[in-house]
Amino acid sequence: MNLIDLRSDTVTRPTAAMREAMLRAEVGDDVYGEDPTVNALQQRLADELGFEAGLFAPSGTQANLLALLSHCQRGDEYIVGMDAHTYKYEGGGAAVFGSIQPQPVLHAGDGTLPLDVVEQVIKPRDPHFARTRLLCLEDTWHGRVLPRDYLRDARALCDRQGLLLHLDGARLFNAAVADGVPAREVTRHFHSVSVCLSKGLGAPVGSVLLGTRALIDEATRWRKVAGGGMRQAGMLAAACIHALDHHVARLADDHRRAQALAQGLRGLPGLSVAAQHTNMVFVDVPQERLAALKQAMDAASIRLSIGYTPRIRLVTHLDVDDEGVRRTIDALRQFAA
Ligand SMILES: *Cc1c(COP(=O)(O)O)cnc(C)c1O
Repeated sequence: MNLIDLRSDTVTRPTAAMREAMLRAEVGDDVYGEDPTVNALQQRLADELGFEAGLFAPSGTQANLLALLSHCQRGDEYIVGMDAHTYKYEGGGAAVFGSIQPQPVLHAGDGTLPLDVVEQVIKPRDPHFARTRLLCLEDTWHGRVLPRDYLRDARALCDRQGLLLHLDGARLFNAAVADGVPAREVTRHFHSVSVCLSKGLGAPVGSVLLGTRALIDEATRWRKVAGGGMRQAGMLAAACIHALDHHVARLADDHRRAQALAQGLRGLPGLSVAAQHTNMVFVDVPQERLAALKQAMDAASIRLSIGYTPRIRLVTHLDVDDEGVRRTIDALRQFAA
């Protein structure tokens, strides 16, 4: 039986055509800024998303870290969601490497950070306090698209309060495709954006940070410090360019399949399915049934993200087809019954 891996959209493997593109890539030494394919990728995303410059990084975690290190100084602070990747899932990197303090805020149900709360936690300019510098948002958030009016209002608040606004756009293109708008409609509200090519877009490795020329120059220095300066990285960038050419519009297929999955699971006894817009389905399962669920899925050759909390995650991507969705619904129906 074929394995169906719904743990994450990071598990995609490069397609044959993507591997061809990687083989053909023109390369140079990117630490010298001489890799033409890396330069083309950076310029292309900068142009498309409305920024002066871009910087290729080996991971989304590093792209976000470079943004924080470049926007903030030692003793500065960034406001961030309590469950945001840039707070919870990046090893505390901003504090570890930058002496930058996070100010976490509880997410509302739709993934937004309530702006009245954000405004309340901004510190006065006084020697007692860290200097609040930056607000960091995440879109998509748990398979949901942040409302674009909210992004506009968040930017207005930042302008009023003298804060910078960064987007963890690991799945930016999922948000744009789900909303039926060019990605620039999302990114235009931000001072910097990080984008992952290695998630649903299907590249093996790679993220890009976008911002002003000055920000990207600073981030380039930090990337070297962090050990992220790669040499003939054009082979990786070629995969990312191929992904942008061929795998953006098809994200709609992943969203449709996630919708089918959610619909197929709704109403099953003991399962509660959260609302979603893009390629992630979250399902609450009674805590005491998690071990049995894991066993049943192993037997059916299906992998889901099952952790220590009752909330499990199913993610559709390039390597999951309609048949995979059907098999998953059937297996979970059997389990629920
Ligand atoms: C995956 C992800 C990242 C970056 O993760 P890497 O594995 O370091 O590339 C950042 N933010 C969000 C929301 C993500 O899902």
